[in-house]
Amino acid sequence: MLVGIDLGTTNSAVGIWRDGKAELVPNALGELLTPSAVAIRPDGTIVTGAAALSRMAMAGEMVATSFKRYMGTDHRVRLHKQSFSAEELSSLVLRALCDDVAAATGERPTEAVITVPAYFNDRQRRATRRAGELAGLTVRRLLNEPTAAAIAFGLMDRQEREPFLVFDLGGGTFDVSIVEMFAGIIEVRASAGDNRLGGDDFNHALVAAWRDRLDPAGSLRAVPHADALLFEAAERTRRALSERAEVEFAVTAGERRLSVPVTEDAFEQAVAPLLRRLRDPLARALRDSAIQADSLSDVVLVGGATRMPVVRRAITRLFGRFPNARVHPDEAVALGAAMQAGLIARAGGLEEIRITDVCPFTLGIERGTRDTNGALREGLFSPIIERNTPVPVSRMQRYFTIAENQQVIRLRIFQGEAREVSGNVKLGELSIAIPPRPAGEVSCDVRFTYDSSGLLEVDVAVPLTGETRNLVIIDEEDRRAIDDLDKRRAVLAALKVHPREDAAIQALLARAERAYEDHLGMGRNMVGEWLLAFTRALDTQDPRLIAEAVNGLTANLDQLDREQPL
Ligand code: ADP
Ligand code: MG
Repeated sequence: MLVGIDLGTTNSAVGIWRDGKAELVPNALGELLTPSAVAIRPDGTIVTGAAALSRMAMAGEMVATSFKRYMGTDHRVRLHKQSFSAEELSSLVLRALCDDVAAATGERPTEAVITVPAYFNDRQRRATRRAGELAGLTVRRLLNEPTAAAIAFGLMDRQEREPFLVFDLGGGTFDVSIVEMFAGIIEVRASAGDNRLGGDDFNHALVAAWRDRLDPAGSLRAVPHADALLFEAAERTRRALSERAEVEFAVTAGERRLSVPVTEDAFEQAVAPLLRRLRDPLARALRDSAIQADSLSDVVLVGGATRMPVVRRAITRLFGRFPNARVHPDEAVALGAAMQAGLIARAGGLEEIRITDVCPFTLGIERGTRDTNGALREGLFSPIIERNTPVPVSRMQRYFTIAENQQVIRLRIFQGEAREVSGNVKLGELSIAIPPRPAGEVSCDVRFTYDSSGLLEVDVAVPLTGETRNLVIIDEEDRRAIDDLDKRRAVLAALKVHPREDAAIQALLARAERAYEDHLGMGRNMVGEWLLAFTRALDTQDPRLIAEAVNGLTANLDQLDREQPL
């Protein structure tokens, strides 16, 4: 079975193509979005999703979130005694999503289309594919997120339309694509983005602007997980600001409850620098596609952070018109991935459509040049495939030796827009031996081929010797990672994962434990009593008693929340 997965920084979702339409599959809690969070419980079992997230601001807990930001890097996240790479953590999320599909359909997914930010570089894409493989999935296609959203939007009302713009602001990344649809072809004209801009940054800005007013005495400094508490409070405040013009920014830490009002206007001012950063990728995408802003038919909103009125206003100001919120901003990417899955599987109910995407960044190699004095200048970037070239694409460029009797050509492959390679991302390197000749007499042809998943292959040929080299961009690290794949899969498979049936109970338990930590005195005693009663009910293993206890505890916690400041 082939599924479509939106593996988000903040939330993930899985969709399938069934009975002629794409649908999202709910998780064990009945929700369509699963937080991309992983935690290890004190008993050593792994929990994912909401159950993991709610352990976030609990004392002594370690929860991994936003790990997509580290995709394709060596960064490891410690959870108690073990440490995990971003791709390993992602594989645990993917596994949970597959469990949900298995529970809903009775069939376990074996293949997937996984979405990635258009701006993901080659390393990040490879890491994402490995995450899928670690979860036991064959990754049939990596699909750019805004392209997935465009498919969902485009197929929804199948009209021929002017180019439209997909504006995707998630928890950690901002992606823009300009898309055209005609005669069954969905064509991405340009993509641009900022992979360090999202809802999280708005939380940080809110904390930075209000922390001193919230806590003039600096009493939070003594609280061990104050930053997590503040971040969480900012998240709540920001979401509330999507509904009301004035809300409280409040934290409860120990006995102290601190709060300060935040108005929409003041918030807008505090985040003005972030709103200004939205402009650059938009301008770049328009410029690269040579499309005028006023010939866009729609600005389609995707990503949870586009729910913020300040963001919608900024878009309205920039484009002089209101954005289109017809596709569900949280669901569009996963739905589009499920549609792509349906297309690959040639499932019924889908007319033949073709999707052409672009490579969102420039790919090239390092070259040396002699300056006018004959001095060698190294480290310059020589583009081979320019950004926003339609993919799949294959381009060849010829290079000549620059040193006398040079015996080897060393190719260093980079991705990015900077003139000097030091400003770009290195993807790999390879060397090819050449016969010693005077400078400029030996040439080498470098061919770059970029496939529809956004993965690069490099072919090098030296016409003089007929020697050729083919390199699917694999750096040492990547090779090690692939060699290790089976071993790592076994390690991950051996982790005890909390049973899926238990997810609702786990989430409730975590919520109650969390409430215990948040309160003191009477409140804490009360929650303590509830927890005792609840665990007693669980121990009976009597489904009827457990169901009653779940309802009782939920009602109690809801009541407690209603008495909360926020
Ligand atoms: P990602 O693609 O990064 O996984 P999502 O598209 O799920 O992210 O968006 C997550 C972001 O959306 C978070 O920063 C969250 O705070 C924000 N968000 C979700 N709902 C709202 C809302 N009602 N108001 C403001 N922000 C929201
Ligand atoms: Mg997203």
